[in-house]
Amino acid sequence: MSQADKLKQGQFTNPETPGYVGFANLPNQVHRKSVKKGFEFTLMVVGESGLGKSTLINSLFLTDLYPERVIPGAAGESFNTEEVTVQISKNILIKKWLDVYEAVLHRRLDGYMCSCHTEKIERTVQIEASTVEIEERGVKLRLTVVDTPGYGDAINSQDCFNTIISYIDDQFERYLHDESGLNRRHIVDNRVHCCFYFISPLGHGLKPLDVQFMKAIHNKVNVVPVIAKADTLTLRERERLKRRILDEIDEHGIKIYHLPDAESDEDEDFKEQTRILKASIPFAVVGSNQQIEAKGKKVRGRLYPWGVVEVENPEHNDFLKLRTMLITHMQDLQEVTQDLHYENFRSERLKRGGRKAPEPEEMDKDIILQEKEAELRRMQEMIAKMQAQMQKQGDGDGDM
Ligand code: GDP
Repeated sequence: MSQADKLKQGQFTNPETPGYVGFANLPNQVHRKSVKKGFEFTLMVVGESGLGKSTLINSLFLTDLYPERVIPGAAGESFNTEEVTVQISKNILIKKWLDVYEAVLHRRLDGYMCSCHTEKIERTVQIEASTVEIEERGVKLRLTVVDTPGYGDAINSQDCFNTIISYIDDQFERYLHDESGLNRRHIVDNRVHCCFYFISPLGHGLKPLDVQFMKAIHNKVNVVPVIAKADTLTLRERERLKRRILDEIDEHGIKIYHLPDAESDEDEDFKEQTRILKASIPFAVVGSNQQIEAKGKKVRGRLYPWGVVEVENPEHNDFLKLRTMLITHMQDLQEVTQDLHYENFRSERLKRGGRKAPEPEEMDKDIILQEKEAELRRMQEMIAKMQAQMQKQGDGDGDM
């Protein structure tokens, strides 16, 4: 068997008993001091609801992070939401034109400000941060998972972006504050080190929302794209979707997290592992909270009439690769957060003379105002043109 085949079979299978995450190897990556203190890592998961985010997180860390969450059924609230969507969009459309018309007639620009405010739709995205302390062979990991239920449900997608961006910025802000304080030795690092962005397996690639969101956060956090519910795709479809997503990421200039190349003095296995991990992006994953009997073993999987999809089987999906990537590159994810994203934040902050960034909401208002002003200018030009034409016609009539 070739080295590559061995790796394909062995590298991503569970090294010990099922139920082993693998972060006990973390001390190899970092200084012993961090071992004593434990590791702090924050992972954010974003994607439309129902794509399997919570299931995957529970499968990744073998912990039920959300034991009390009630999953809403198909009927009920979501149905109502659609009705509201239509209703609100119609209102906005009508309101917008009335406002512009009114402003053209009466030059009441102040009225603009009010309408910007009334048009604001209630936010639906929430931020839920759950922290668990997991211990494996004496190594502690303080893991915070930040979930974003309601993402993509808001009518104005900018609304849910703002909540998430504010959360990321607030953590930087807190760190900056603590870092300049007296008690620098005991800073709790809640900065978001990685964001798994879940992409639907049903589309033909990225949706406009996916592109907009990843572009909005790529300079703030390490984005790792993940194809959800990979068991709904054939191998061919999976490969095609992966290629399409990578092309679109490239086309739109989205900066995703790049695994560092293995150093030349690393052992061959590690080099091969890095190569395989790089080639698997975007990771196509399957999650499950159920243990199923397969080939005489209990495994985490999904039972179908035609067989069992095993979560931790590298031939079935990229779950173990995603977990290996996260665990073996946890330190790099932290370093990129510190050296690139946090430094960007800090230098921006210094440029503004220590002032906070304007709230995204304020930026929104500015953009809306600018758009409305441009619209108003266009209408004024149109009216001026019409008046000139009428004048011309009137002059023509007078000549007769
Ligand atoms: P979330 O809203 O993104 O957190 O999604 P959930 O984790 O609550 O999952 C929504 C539904 O999708 C549940 O019925 C899960 O059992 C199912 N689900 C989760 N992961 C997978 C998967 O990998 N494949 C399939 N086919 N279904 C999944």
